[in-house]
Amino acid sequence: MSKHQYAMVMDLNKCLGCQTCTIACKKLWTDRDGTGYMYWNNVETRPGLGYPRQWDRIGGGYDYGHAWEYDYEQRLFEGRRKPVMPFPEPQSGVNWDEDVGGMNGSENYFFYLPRICNHCTYPACLEACPRKAIYKREEDGIVVLDQDRCQGYRYCIQACPYKKIYFNEVAGKSEKCIFCYPRLEKGEVNACAAQCPGRLRFVGLLDDPESPVHKLVLVHKMALPLYPERGTQPNVFYVPPFNPPKRENYGKSILEDPRLPLDYLVQLFGPEVKGVISQLEAELKKAQEGGKSEVLQLLIGRDAEVRYRIRPELVQIKA
Ligand code: SF4
Ligand code: SF4
Repeated sequence: MSKHQYAMVMDLNKCLGCQTCTIACKKLWTDRDGTGYMYWNNVETRPGLGYPRQWDRIGGGYDYGHAWEYDYEQRLFEGRRKPVMPFPEPQSGVNWDEDVGGMNGSENYFFYLPRICNHCTYPACLEACPRKAIYKREEDGIVVLDQDRCQGYRYCIQACPYKKIYFNEVAGKSEKCIFCYPRLEKGEVNACAAQCPGRLRFVGLLDDPESPVHKLVLVHKMALPLYPERGTQPNVFYVPPFNPPKRENYGKSILEDPRLPLDYLVQLFGPEVKGVISQLEAELKKAQEGGKSEVLQLLIGRDAEVRYRIRPELVQIKA
């Protein structure tokens, strides 16, 4: 168990699916050789196959698809009139089934699920590495992969139930999200959070009573980890999507007539999700009737000071 633990909460009700976070991360960390297909942060449309394809189904999780190219030269300089097509022909990729979603009765539904490494309290990736190349920083709980020690065995990729480790074929090493620790050490928030126009990411130390993640996860119990039954105890949490009831039933409770099938949410976030939705609904009602809701104030997260509490002075990384 680490001394402190950085954590992130993402409010799925606010995600626009714009992928700004994905690009912020990609430009900062994965635009080197061999990283073309890697998205340490990705945003998938749910329900959907996810990235890598079928990562959450038993036996799946290895089909990332390929990074593809476009030959603009032929159109712009060689005068060919054919549409510019990607090559090699894509079969799958990041957010492959964008905005497809599913049907509940006659109503279509979908929501966006941003994903990073969960910096788990009990990381399966770490357990699986025979080289001890993966470690959890004692000072802040961030899980990192030592590039010098890694021999490219890829047991970590197999072991991670969230499939959040990638293999760099050029370097022959595994790579993963580092929770932007170089930024946190300077007192700056993670790039994905800083850039997010939806302002749905909250960052802080789980054990700091003043941090928004502490309040949302431990005090108000409004955020849940993804697939909690996988046993790694993730430190990324989600406020479940809270779509309105179906069109003909606006007056009813969301639990009575959910647009998003509750079974699906239970599958993703565990049985506690129903309680969280009820509580969110109650908070919303309170605010609509003129009352004050601390939870909603927090979730609105108008200012960066409310959303992030980065404490380099508390964490004190050893040189
Ligand atoms: S999400 Fe996967 S890669 Fe990240 S710490 Fe957990 S087991 Fe390791
Ligand atoms: S930047 Fe924010 S709103 Fe846009 S996809 Fe990422 S998490 Fe969602």
